Amino acid sequence: MTRAEIKEHLTKGTDVCMVCGRKLLGEWTDYNGQIRCVDCGATHQVLGCHLTREYLQEFDLEKKDIARTYFDQPESLEIQRDYWKETSKRLPFGWFMETPPNLRKYHNDFIAWLLPRANEYKKQYPDAFDWEAVEGLRKS
Ligand SMILES: [Zn+2]
Repeated sequence: MTRAEIKEHLTKGTDVCMVCGRKLLGEWTDYNGQIRCVDCGATHQVLGCHLTREYLQEFDLEKKDIARTYFDQPESLEIQRDYWKETSKRLPFGWFMETPPNLRKYHNDFIAWLLPRANEYKKQYPDAFDWEAVEGLRKS
């Protein structure tokens, strides 16, 4: 998403999953107010603004401007959509404490898919991920 599209999305919100396009139904993650789409695993905020003051300032927004339900990783939307379209595998996000061992497969599958594409995506979507951390996974 472009900066303008992100700003518009954050203020308008969504009732469909921004990655798979289905009606947004989710399970709670271990992050306050966040759900994980039961179909594709994409994370959305459903209890209003949890964005930092610094992030809001980047978009010239205030907490009161933010929709109740919004996709919370807009910088990587296109990458997440590509992954879902190409693989139909669940996205591995929404584990802030630690990914449960029985679900690490989602994480490993996503990384295995992302690494060969990382250089290209990094150019197109520099803010999508911490690319240095992604590169670090290549060595592990
Ligand atoms: Zn979804």
